[in-house]
Amino acid sequence: MTEHANNWLRANDWVSQSFRANFYCRFCKCSKDIMQQQGLQNDDSLRNKTNYVNDVTTNNVLKRIVYGTQYLLSFHVTENYSADIAHDIFEGIAMFDIVELLYQYVFISKLFTIDTFNTLLKCFDFGKSNINKTPLISHSNLKSKHINMLCSEAKTLVLYFGLIIGYLIPTDDEYWELYTLTATCTDLFLKAH
Ligand SMILES: [Zn+2]
Repeated sequence: MTEHANNWLRANDWVSQSFRANFYCRFCKCSKDIMQQQGLQNDDSLRNKTNYVNDVTTNNVLKRIVYGTQYLLSFHVTENYSADIAHDIFEGIAMFDIVELLYQYVFISKLFTIDTFNTLLKCFDFGKSNINKTPLISHSNLKSKHINMLCSEAKTLVLYFGLIIGYLIPTDDEYWELYTLTATCTDLFLKAH
């Protein structure tokens, strides 16, 4: 699914427009609280045509699907499980991971300060490639874990995070594996994209 199609789905109320909604996932019906603890997919909770019809009649957030299906007979939102790399990865999972790692290293492990990180970010040589550099991150935004950036800026941060800050991380750091996994998965997604 393209980024525009994904936005269109949300903008037209096919799914909840808010990523902070309690049942925000367009793939499954798990609540936000359950998903924060969940490590594996629960097949019984996946959205399908049957439970979607029930939701339409009981949950007005999803009501517009009734009108949408009149015009797009070949398309059903519960049968399109495509994800989009911009929102689901760069502005989504990968950024959540980077923010949690930065929070851990700055406020809990205290391996470096946010000023040090910003200085390294500012001085980093991204080469001559035409990329959108990551903006500096304020202490207060990191403290509240509310960091907003464009998809292209988030992509830069995810791809270069290890090169920018990796040398300050001890080799036996238990959290760094989260970054190596994130970077490995991102590589795979980009190759498939
Ligand atoms: Zn889900």
